[in-house]
Amino acid sequence: MVDYIGVADMQRLVRRIGVASFIERLASEIEADFRRWSLFEKSARLASHSDIGVIELMPTSDGQLYSFKYVNGHPKNTERGLLTVTAFGVLADVATGYPLLLSELTLTTALRTAAMSALAARWLALAGSRTMALIGNGAQSEFQALAFHRMLGIRELRLYDVDATATDKLAHNLAAQPELADLTVLRCASIADAVRGADIVTTVTADKRNAVILTPDMIEPGMHLNAVGGDCPGKTELHRDVLLRPDARVVVEYEPQSRIEGEIQQLPASFPVVEFAQVLRGEATARMSPRDVTIFDSVGFALEDYSALRFLHELLHDGSEAPNRIDLIPTLADPKDLFGGLLGSAGRTTLRRVA
Ligand code: NAD
Repeated sequence: MVDYIGVADMQRLVRRIGVASFIERLASEIEADFRRWSLFEKSARLASHSDIGVIELMPTSDGQLYSFKYVNGHPKNTERGLLTVTAFGVLADVATGYPLLLSELTLTTALRTAAMSALAARWLALAGSRTMALIGNGAQSEFQALAFHRMLGIRELRLYDVDATATDKLAHNLAAQPELADLTVLRCASIADAVRGADIVTTVTADKRNAVILTPDMIEPGMHLNAVGGDCPGKTELHRDVLLRPDARVVVEYEPQSRIEGEIQQLPASFPVVEFAQVLRGEATARMSPRDVTIFDSVGFALEDYSALRFLHELLHDGSEAPNRIDLIPTLADPKDLFGGLLGSAGRTTLRRVA
């Protein structure tokens, strides 16, 4: 039997813990795994592109546990009443190859992306950052807002989306969160208006093209940019000259994948970047001065989903409730008699009689 977390299970788990504390705890797990960076098997994800979207597989292992995520990105899906991003994944035991957990990862991806964004910002943004612009107010946006409020101390949020109804939804959802009572939420007339004076700028838009959400004239010394929405070939959010500013320091998750999918796909392979694990492990410094502009060129790396699946599996077994289990893998009295297992005991009898 394999542990199973469906959407309803995930809702229950997160309700028990609270969204912001779930994100904060998950960020600690992600941080712990990034510190073990050298132990992980790493590869750029395997992507299957179409004109309107992408389907990707994201595997990794630390030699003890193996995980993969199936995830898609279809920006036009919302026009059909469907999510832009959906996902599910598996955690498995390397010693036997047996899956331990099959889990929904659509909700979890939003939680882990917010956890990763806020974790990176903790290391890169200026201490004392209080104001964040949030450009793109779709499915991921509440999670980003909660993460930055909890983990960075953001107290003013400046919203902008080309779709005013998305901003209405975000503002409504944030207003309903008691823990955000001390958060000032402002609706802005343009991206420039939202970004002006912000300490941190999060871009989390969806459009399968080289969009230009942020232009060089909008960027102020000391800002931290959390660029989340550009995450596959031909899908970016920053004008390339933002990356080329002499004071800009670009941090990526896993360089070979980010060269293909990140904002830096717009630049030659020689353009210098730092991996987040290097910053975390004290092997590199991203921010040299308070006037530097730090850019987290986020695409989402398999290790973050590994951490999420590992964390979910631990939560399932913390004794709070009995985990749901599914019969994904046959359990056989004789592991060589798979055929008998397929037919059940009647089948085994029949087989023996024929023999
Ligand atoms: P979504 O479709 O629900 O929301 C995207 C929002 O962006 C929409 O409300 C849309 O109106 C808005 N938008 C599009 N173009 C815009 C523009 N020019 N200016 C302002 N707003 C604009 O999508 P989502 O699930 O919130 O995902 C957002 C993006 O984040 C997607 O591109 C997705 O692929 C990406 N993503 C990245 C990671 C990561 O780890 N880096 C993880 C999950 C999702």
